[in-house]
Amino acid sequence: MMASLWAPVAQLDRALGYEPRGQRFESSPVHHFKIMIIFDIFAAGPIETNTVLIGCPKTHHALLIDCPSECATWVEKRVKALGLHLDLILLTHSHWDHIADAAKLKEIFKVPIWVHAEDALNVEKPGADGLPLYFPIEGVKPDGALVDGQALKVGEISIKVIHTPGHTPGSVCFYLPDEGILVSGDTLFRGTMGRLDLPTGRPALMKGSLNKLGSLPPQTRVYPGHGEPTTINEEAWIKKY
Ligand SMILES: [Zn+2]
Ligand SMILES: [Zn+2]
Repeated sequence: MMASLWAPVAQLDRALGYEPRGQRFESSPVHHFKIMIIFDIFAAGPIETNTVLIGCPKTHHALLIDCPSECATWVEKRVKALGLHLDLILLTHSHWDHIADAAKLKEIFKVPIWVHAEDALNVEKPGADGLPLYFPIEGVKPDGALVDGQALKVGEISIKVIHTPGHTPGSVCFYLPDEGILVSGDTLFRGTMGRLDLPTGRPALMKGSLNKLGSLPPQTRVYPGHGEPTTINEEAWIKKY
């Protein structure tokens, strides 16, 4: 299922020659963006896990967030169609539905995979986290460890890592301050939060994580690991959880 969740961004797919800060979108509702970005989402695998492709239209550098099963073909196709150069794969956490195609994508693109250290083992040895695997998943050794507050760059796009333990000990969210976007993994969904009853759950830590996300600007668009996007404002309950 191809989800064009965000019309102005979807337009970018058809307008590769546009100029960032140019006139094409001057009257669009998102003209306050510092730069326009390529932001493409695809829900893949048995429980429709979102994979997110983020690209800098100026430099064509890109990164991918999460690797659900059966997403590799889509990623290859989109990277090629958009003329992108994939630099890096980031994981919001290591549950099987977010890592199933990680080894395959690393092989295809020869790129490093980064995850928080507390979720690293299950990427290398899928199933080590105590969750049942419904099909075989190839492990892959992560190349880097994400830490809270870490600043990443893809082309001219800035991304901040926010450690949000609770759903898993090493869950992280990715915040794009200039675009007002949060990729929230399974920490925050539209109207609810990620499960805390799995072997990886750390219920006592979820409050701090949700409160942290609650301090982001209210207009921040939130793209969860499953389902439809929301905003921090619509999820105001997370400040008081
Ligand atoms: Zn999960
Ligand atoms: Zn998930």
